[in-house]
Amino acid sequence: MTMDIFRLDGKVALITGGNRGIGLAVARIFGEAGARCMLTSRSETPALKALLAETPDRFDWVQADVNDADAPERIVQATLDRFGKLDVLVNNAGVAANGDFHDFDDERMHYIFDTNLIAPFRIARAAIRPMLDQGGGAMVNIGSISGMVANKPQLQVAYNSSKAAIHTMTKTMAFEYADRGIRVNALAPGYVVSDMTAGGIANADWNRVWTENTPMGRFGQPEEMAACVLFLASDAASYVTGSVLVADGGYLTH
Ligand code: NDP
Repeated sequence: MTMDIFRLDGKVALITGGNRGIGLAVARIFGEAGARCMLTSRSETPALKALLAETPDRFDWVQADVNDADAPERIVQATLDRFGKLDVLVNNAGVAANGDFHDFDDERMHYIFDTNLIAPFRIARAAIRPMLDQGGGAMVNIGSISGMVANKPQLQVAYNSSKAAIHTMTKTMAFEYADRGIRVNALAPGYVVSDMTAGGIANADWNRVWTENTPMGRFGQPEEMAACVLFLASDAASYVTGSVLVADGGYLTH
């Protein structure tokens, strides 16, 4: 066995939220591992533009709001049209919102669930068909430790619940497709430096609570999450399906 089991040569990946944060880091490591990648997001960031300009044969981008009715079929079709197949789906796009449970309104609850659960469900459903036709594939859903423990000090009923739901969807899909060559896993990151956490990291009180509750005493980096996603997507994880891989600096140990 060699390190080649971590490579994705010849593979095609679709990565949602591939313009920044964890999704962009996944795109970069997938590209280094030999994959060709279709990235999708609402906005085109300078970092995304640079990646597309540097390696146009390896990366492409399709603009989509994952909550649009036609987005799932459109982004899967764009991947097939551009690269001819689809081997790996990374359901990474996600949003968070804070608020007391008793004040949390229906609109925000729906928005968080639409983006973090319903959209990944619809995108996975669209991606399953070409994977079945090809005889296999791999999916990685980005969950969170927030799906396993209530966040503090920020109160996030919708976010926590949506991430718990995507962990369960992951296991359900893994069970359903295990005998048809499609592996489905989730990554549950702890606190990672990105736009999503920038406000909390800048807030001295939140920063202290997050750091003190992370035994390693620091936040994760997007690249550290991307390495885990690469493992789950690659043949190195050939016997891994239905797992929720926790990468949290030890947050859940206590
Ligand atoms: P960012 O806020 O940096 O990035 C969020 C990404 O999601 C962006 O690419 C954004 O695209 C995309 N996105 C959000 N809503 C939509 C939408 N409606 N349609 C299309 N794209 C959308 O966050 P992270 O990189 O940190 O988060 C990535 C994933 O990791 C999320 O699922 C998050 O919940 C999860 N996670 C993050 C943790 C952290 O500590 N950072 C911890 C645990 C889990 P655009 O720029 O176009 O809006």
